[in-house]
Amino acid sequence: QVRVRIAPSPTGAPHVGTAYIGLFNYVFARVHGGQCVIRIEDTDQARSERRYEEDILRSLRWVGLAWDGPYRQSERLPVYREHVQQLLDSGAAYRCWCTPERLEAVRQQQRQDKAPMRYDGHCRYLTEAEAKAHGDQPSVVRLKVPEDGSTVVHDAFRDPITIEHGQIDDQVLLKSDGYPTYHLANVVDDHVMEISHVIRAEEWISSTPKHLMLYHAFGWAPPVFMHMPLLRNADRSKISKRKNPVSLRYYERQGYLPEALLNFLALMGWSMPDEREVFTLAEMIESFSFDRISLGGPVFDLQKLEWLNGMYIRQLSPAALSERLLENARAKSRLLDDNAYVDAITPLLQERLRTLGDFQDMAAFFYDTPLAYDKALLLPKGRNPREAVKVLTEVAEVLTRHAGPWQDAELEASVRAYVEGAKWPGRDLFMTLRTAVTGRTASPPLFATMQVLGRDLCLSRLEDAVA
Ligand code: ATP
Ligand code: GLU
Repeated sequence: QVRVRIAPSPTGAPHVGTAYIGLFNYVFARVHGGQCVIRIEDTDQARSERRYEEDILRSLRWVGLAWDGPYRQSERLPVYREHVQQLLDSGAAYRCWCTPERLEAVRQQQRQDKAPMRYDGHCRYLTEAEAKAHGDQPSVVRLKVPEDGSTVVHDAFRDPITIEHGQIDDQVLLKSDGYPTYHLANVVDDHVMEISHVIRAEEWISSTPKHLMLYHAFGWAPPVFMHMPLLRNADRSKISKRKNPVSLRYYERQGYLPEALLNFLALMGWSMPDEREVFTLAEMIESFSFDRISLGGPVFDLQKLEWLNGMYIRQLSPAALSERLLENARAKSRLLDDNAYVDAITPLLQERLRTLGDFQDMAAFFYDTPLAYDKALLLPKGRNPREAVKVLTEVAEVLTRHAGPWQDAELEASVRAYVEGAKWPGRDLFMTLRTAVTGRTASPPLFATMQVLGRDLCLSRLEDAVA
């Protein structure tokens, strides 16, 4: 039975790495008819916050991956204490009463000696009487790493990695606040929750020897480990806030479609058997196997994500796109509650949107009153300003007299009839009209745009242009 988990720590905004790792766990479970568990690793009391947990859960819902849970480690403290007691009883762990000051002094000495920084084992070798003497003083519990021998990490994607025990610190398992550390809680929970495969980011590989020692100390069989390559910036460094947005909330607010983001994340370290780059989650599940993982750090290329996102946007029906645009705009609390208006604008912009958020800017002229723009843009190159006023006034008259329906083709016919006898060629005249009506020199097709804007707005903008 396949059972996987994601185990985010609620210590910051929901990380795109969580969605990435979540995706591969989810897909793997689906392929094998297994289960997915979400476990909130909130044992760092100082850094964990409930609002981060809520944001993480919310973002995972937005992405569209479903999980059992959440389980919360802070609610399972007795489980960890009981297991730590087992290790103390069997001699696989020991209590340590060293004060922060003493530990700092040890570190300083090691820095000076350029020796590896690790606990010096002071409390490991206390006699029973010495240990007793500490009574109720605050203590931590440490793993008693064997002095000799080595541990071999078997990762499903890699050759075995051998780590000498001499290189491993006597890891703290239980802190003085009574909370377990990540290592202890993670191993206990993966065992108790019957996790069969641990699929997580490569950065945890260096923790795996400690985890294996814990499995060994408890007498448990470890799960299968699979460490996914880290997402990288173009310069190959691990993606970081400074070079790429890493918060899932950013991608949501910006108007990336979750299905495009998942497709993009699927391409990070994995590929379809036929190498095609655009596919749905269902298609990924259909074709998935870890054979096609490649470990050479995938580059998180925002431009590619934008490209994919634009593709997904174009595939939506205009009605579906309108709905998403409204959701996105509402999330940003911009007042866009006239659904019919959005429905009318959407087809004009659909081809050019890369994100839902682009709508805010591209469609701004449909909403802004009055339009703010540089009046110099009204004047085509080499034309006389006085002529421009005349032309605009005449076009305004033509449109005021326009008797047919206020629609694309009819409007074009009226304006073209006027162009016949006008002073300016159509090209210049259309440019000036476009600028007057939209405040921009580039816009969606002019007459379709005027149709959506409606008669009153078009005429008042023409008036403003010559004012
Ligand atoms: P920091 O910025 O402090 O190093 P972080 O970037 O690792 O933190 P976390 O909040 O610790 O951010 O990470 C959240 C989750 O995303 C963790 O499970 C982590 O393993 C994973 N993760 C973080 N960075 C990457 C990355 N570059 N590629 C893949 N997964 C990542
Ligand atoms: N809490 C860890 C994290 O933030 C879990 C790592 C793991 O999957 O073991 O990613």
